[in-house]
Amino acid sequence: MYSFGERLNSLILKTKGNAMTLKNDQRSGTLVVPGERLGVIEEFIPDSGTYVKDGVIFSKIVGRALMDMLNRRVSVYPLTKGVTVPKVGVTVVGQVGNAQSDNVLVRIFEVGAKKKMSGVFGGILHISDASDRYIDSMNEVCRPGDIIRAKVISEKNQIFHLTTDDKNLGVVYAFCSVCGNLLEQTRNEMHCTKCGNIERRKTAFNYGKEDLPVVENVQP
Ligand SMILES: [Zn+2]
Repeated sequence: MYSFGERLNSLILKTKGNAMTLKNDQRSGTLVVPGERLGVIEEFIPDSGTYVKDGVIFSKIVGRALMDMLNRRVSVYPLTKGVTVPKVGVTVVGQVGNAQSDNVLVRIFEVGAKKKMSGVFGGILHISDASDRYIDSMNEVCRPGDIIRAKVISEKNQIFHLTTDDKNLGVVYAFCSVCGNLLEQTRNEMHCTKCGNIERRKTAFNYGKEDLPVVENVQP
């Protein structure tokens, strides 16, 4: 099992190293047709809407290609109503995964106004994009397992970069890092009614009031 840092470093190196080979391949959101080349199996795990021939991944259907650089998956989503993919400027909901002191991975499972996606996609929230005030550690923003609302600010290197720097963005559900109980917000502190633990978060203005998203398919 690689640490988050190792994973991120190899991801960035790999992304840079693949710049040449990716140049001729599809980008996320691109309209593709059956038989269109998406990448190679050394770069991606082929997922729904794709097939592999001689190590090359092709689209099986007419749809939009989605490169998930964090999970290294490529899939194609059919052009049907209600299928939504993350893109710059769109608000998403996700669960915080691996965390470092200056960034966290986010598993995006909802995009736009309650529109479900056909898969879960990886995003990164960096500490500098978390709030308009100075923050020492990501622990003050969110922690693994939390549900956050964020906005996509960049798809650089085909990775969804997120921000929570807005009053309607941030943690919508936070869980005690000691006992796992849902935390209650009191002024600037997050309080656990079960074990008394006190933590900090960068919350959205409607913390705890959003319909609890269905997260049963998301690994904590
Ligand atoms: Zn607790």
